[in-house]
This record gives sequence, C-alpha cells and structure tokens, in this order.
Amino acid sequence: MENNDFFIKIVNNEKGKGLFSNRIFKEGDIILEEKPIVCCQFSWNSDYGYLACDHCLRPLETAQENAQRLTGNPNLFLPYSECCETNKNLMTECPACGAKYCSIECQNEAFQRYHSVLCLQSRMKDESHSLTQLNETWKQMHYPPETATIMLLARMVALVNQANNKQDVLSIFSQFCHRTTNDTHEIAHNLLGEKFVGQIDVLRQMMQTALNTEYTAHWFTPDGFRSLLALVGTNGQGIGTSAFSRWVKNVSALDLPKDQRIYIDKLINRIYDDMEEVVGSFLNNEGSGLYILQSSVNHSCTPNAIAEFPYSNNTLVLKAIRDIQVGEEICTSYLDECELERSRYSRQKALSSLYLFVCHCDKCQTQINDPNVTSDEELDDDDVSS
Ligand SMILES: [Zn+2]
Ligand SMILES: [Zn+2]
Ligand SMILES: [Zn+2]
Repeated sequence: MENNDFFIKIVNNEKGKGLFSNRIFKEGDIILEEKPIVCCQFSWNSDYGYLACDHCLRPLETAQENAQRLTGNPNLFLPYSECCETNKNLMTECPACGAKYCSIECQNEAFQRYHSVLCLQSRMKDESHSLTQLNETWKQMHYPPETATIMLLARMVALVNQANNKQDVLSIFSQFCHRTTNDTHEIAHNLLGEKFVGQIDVLRQMMQTALNTEYTAHWFTPDGFRSLLALVGTNGQGIGTSAFSRWVKNVSALDLPKDQRIYIDKLINRIYDDMEEVVGSFLNNEGSGLYILQSSVNHSCTPNAIAEFPYSNNTLVLKAIRDIQVGEEICTSYLDECELERSRYSRQKALSSLYLFVCHCDKCQTQINDPNVTSDEELDDDDVSS
C-alpha cells in the first residue's frame, strides 16, 4: 500500500511490515487518520458504568455527569457547560437489546456490520445467555487493568457472518501480523496470565456455543483460537475517551480573565485529585480496536509519532511528535512513558514478554553495551509488589 504521505513495506522477518514516510512531516503534523475494522469497549469498563457508544466509544455522559460519577460527588457542578461535547439529543438505542449509541449513524452501521447477528443470537439463546456467560467467564480471567475483551473476538466472528463477501473480511484480518504456533501460545498466555492458561479451551468452546463459527472454523481449532487471541493481543490498539477531559481541553482554550482562569484551574485540579482517590487511574471509557495502518507501525524507544483519539471516539490519529524525513520509518512506542525511561534491559524485557520481539531501535543500539540490569524504578516496583 502506498500514497503521497506514506507507504508500507516488509522490513524483515521479525518485525514484518513497517510504515514509512513518503514526505517531510513537521512536529505536530497529522500523518494519517483511520477508523478501526472493529472495536469494542472493555468488559469491566462497561460494567462499572463507563458509558460509551457501543459502536464508536464516544462518551454518552455529559462532562458534569462524568465528573460526578468519577468523584462520587452527585452535587458537583461544572461551569462552562458549552464546553461539553456530549449531545444527548442524538443518542439512540437498539430497540431489541438496549445497546446504546451516540447517534443513529452508529446504530445503523453497527447493525449492518455485526450487531444484527450478536443481537439476534443473544436473544435466541436467551435461556443459556451464552454470550453473557462467555463475557462473565472472560471477566473472571481478565481483571482490570484490562488489555482486551473476548467481545472483540465475538464481533470479529459476527462481522464475517454478516458480510456478503466473507472472504473479503477474512483476508482483511489475515493482513494483521501473525505469529508462529510457539509465539501464539506465549502471547495468549501472557494475555490471560499463567493461572488461566488451562481455561483458554473453555473460552473457545463457549464461543462456539454462543456463535455460529461455521465461516471462521479455522479460528476455532485449539491452535487457531490461540492465534486469534494473539492477533488481538499484539495488534489491538487501546482506545480511550472521556467527556470530562474534552471539557477540560475546551475550557483551557477559552480566553478568560485572570481570576476566572485561576478559579477554573484550581477546580480542575481538585476534581482530578478527587477522581484519583475514588477511581485511581481508571478515568476513561476504555476499549481496543484493530486498525489496519496503525498495526503496521513498529515500536521504537525513541518514537517519532504518537496515536491519539482527538475526536473523542474510535478515530485514530497518528501524529508526528518530531520532524520526520522522507523515507524514515514511522514508529510509536508500545511502552508507556514510565517504561520508556527505564534501562535498555528493562525495556527489552517488557517488549519481549508482551510482544515477543527484541528491540533494535536507535536508542537500544546505542545502549547495546549497557550492563543487563533492571532500572531502579523497576526494582522499586518489585519491592512494592513483593
Ligand atoms: Zn457512536
Ligand atoms: Zn441489539
Ligand atoms: Zn528500543
């Protein structure tokens, strides 16, 4: 695939594909925007009342409702309500199952692509609640902080079942990075944790009971199911949306008199402090999705790009965080900011256990002779957890 802005090429056997720049990007430039093939809110996140569109994850609460819930303070008042982007007048829900959407467009698109099958099947097999049971079983294996949901896999199956041309959809999924059998075992295990390794087969059988898996039979052999979990584990891109953080962003852009600015900044800080006490770091509606272009972006410990969700929905924007030259590989960091500051040894340990690759980025190359010790931060973490 190639256009004026970027192209994708095979890098090597270990990394597979990579995304490369076809022109100069300045810091802050948007490299690309894309919608996911499929996405889904995390199961616990949804259960705990993080209200998001069932299709695009747009917040369904107003910023004030969001802040009230996350601070546990039902009397909290947010000024500048015009800075809240939530539009309740556009919201709809599925008349059959009550799934909530930010707009009729999302409801229709979900129904046409995958929801018709999932909605019907959850009602038809109502006695056994097989999809609900599958989700409950998953939740017992995968506690917050969540990194995946079995419901994303259910949507993938439904997407194939509902497609007119099933081969087309299957070939889209086959473009994502696939691993060897040994690798997929390890990734699937990492996704669930050692304790639940034996139960992968339980999930597989429950999914076969809950859904028509005729067109995706190759995903439901024991090896096939592990590789499906591995596909979602290694390619799934986290998505986060928040009505309150959009309100903060819009309020921060207002031209306010100095005293009002001081007042509002204090208010925002106090709300964030209160939220931290009540929900810790769980501030966002969270889920994950499969993005074709983003999934070809490799990791670097000195990334030149970042994936963001500036529209408060599942539209991913890849943005340059420094100038990028023609022909340069575009990379993001798979590690968070704290992890990136750690020693080469610590970073490589995290990358190889989560994504099963050895990082050869510029930073890792220049630190290649560093001793193999974990960084202090990591030793601290170990102390706390033991
Ligand atoms: Zn939506
Ligand atoms: Zn429905
Ligand atoms: Zn590196």
